[in-house]
Amino acid sequence: MAIQTTADQGFIRKFNTAVILDYLRRFSPLSRAELAARAGLNRSTVSIIINNLIEEGFIQETDLQSSKVGRPGMLLTLNPKGGFAVGVEIGVDFISVILTDFIANVLWRERVSSDPGDDQIHILDYATELTQKAIDIGLERGLRPLGIGIGVPGLVDLRQGKLVFAPNLRWSNVPLRLMWSQRFELPIFIENEANAAALGEYYFGVARGKDNFIFLSAGIGLGGGVMIDGKLFRGSSGYAGEIGHMTIDPEGELCGCGKRGCWETKVGPRAVLRRVRKILDDGTPSLIKNFSGDNLDGITFNNVVDAAKSNDAVAMEALKDVGKYLGIGVVNLINIFNPELIVLGGALSLAHEYLLPVIENIVCESSLKPPCEHIKFAASGHETDACVMGAVALVLDDILREPIFLQRVT
Ligand SMILES: [Zn+2]
Repeated sequence: MAIQTTADQGFIRKFNTAVILDYLRRFSPLSRAELAARAGLNRSTVSIIINNLIEEGFIQETDLQSSKVGRPGMLLTLNPKGGFAVGVEIGVDFISVILTDFIANVLWRERVSSDPGDDQIHILDYATELTQKAIDIGLERGLRPLGIGIGVPGLVDLRQGKLVFAPNLRWSNVPLRLMWSQRFELPIFIENEANAAALGEYYFGVARGKDNFIFLSAGIGLGGGVMIDGKLFRGSSGYAGEIGHMTIDPEGELCGCGKRGCWETKVGPRAVLRRVRKILDDGTPSLIKNFSGDNLDGITFNNVVDAAKSNDAVAMEALKDVGKYLGIGVVNLINIFNPELIVLGGALSLAHEYLLPVIENIVCESSLKPPCEHIKFAASGHETDACVMGAVALVLDDILREPIFLQRVT
C-alpha cells in the first residue's frame, strides 16, 4: 500500500534519497552510520531510506566491516544489478552504443562507421536498431531498463528533446526524443555531445569531484562542456558551450556553421591533417608516407599520432602547431570561467601527450596569473568513448538526482 505523503514530505524524502545515493556513488562503501554523519541526517531517517533502496535493488549490503565511524556494521554500495542504461552517440561519421549496469560497468558495446552523406532516416534507423539490441541484451541478463541517453554533435533543445542544428551532419530540427519514445517506453535524454561527455567525466572519469572544469571535445567539430559549481552550464536556452565557433580568424577557412575562421577550423583532427599534407607537399621526408604512400588524402589522424610516437618530425610539428591554436582558445576560456581543470577529449585526446604540454606552455605565458595558478590539465580517460559514457551518465544522473522510483515505494 502506498504511503500518502504531503508534497513537502515527498520532496524532502526524495531529496534525502538523492543525497544518500550521491554519497554512495562517490564514496562507497559506507556504513549506515557514516552515511548519516556525512548527510547530516538521523539514523532512523537513513535506515528507512536505505531499506527502501535495498528493497528496490538500487543498493546492496556487503559483508565488509567498517571501522571509520561508529560501531562496525554492514557496508553499503550501489548495486550493479540495480538496472541497465543505454548510451548512444550519433557522431558525424559513426554510431556508438554502450550498455552498462547501474554502476556504469560496460556490459556490451558496438561502434559502426557511418557516412555523413547518408540519408538521415537511414542513420537514425540504424541507431535505433543498435539501441534495441542493447536493450534486448540487458533484459536477457535479467536487469531492469533505466533509460536511454543520446549524445549528438549539435545544438539541443532540452525541453523538447530535439536536435536543433548539427552543422557537421547538416541536420536541423530532428525530434530525437519523440522518435525514440515512439519505439521505446523508457526515459530518454538528449544532450549535446560535449555536455554529455563532461557529465561522464564528472561521474566516472578524470573530473570526479571537480565542480568547475571545462571539457573540450575535439572530433570533426570542437565542442565544450562547461561545469560550473557541479552543474552543466547551459545558458538561457541550452545552447551554451559552442566554443568551437568562437571566431579566431575572420578571413579564415569556411566552417560547417557557415561562418569563417571558427576555432574548430584551426584545431580539430582535420586541421592536423591539413597541416601534415602541407608539410609533406614540400617533399619533407616522414614516416607518415609509409601509411599512405603517395596518396596524401588517405592519411588519417591515427596515422599522424602513430608517427609522432616514433618521433616523426612532421607529425610532431603539425601537432605542435594545432596545440598552439588550442592553447590560444583555452587561455580565453580560463580567463572567462576560472576552471580548476581542462579536460582534452574526443579524437584529439589520442595525441594528448603532444598537445597538452604545448597548451600548458601557452596558458602559463598568456593567461592572467591568478586564474591559472592552480589549473590542471588532463586527457579524457574515456578517449573516444567520452560522449557515449556521458550518455549513460545522463540516465544515471537523472535517477540519482531525481529518484522518481520513490513514488512506487511502499
Ligand atoms: Zn563555426
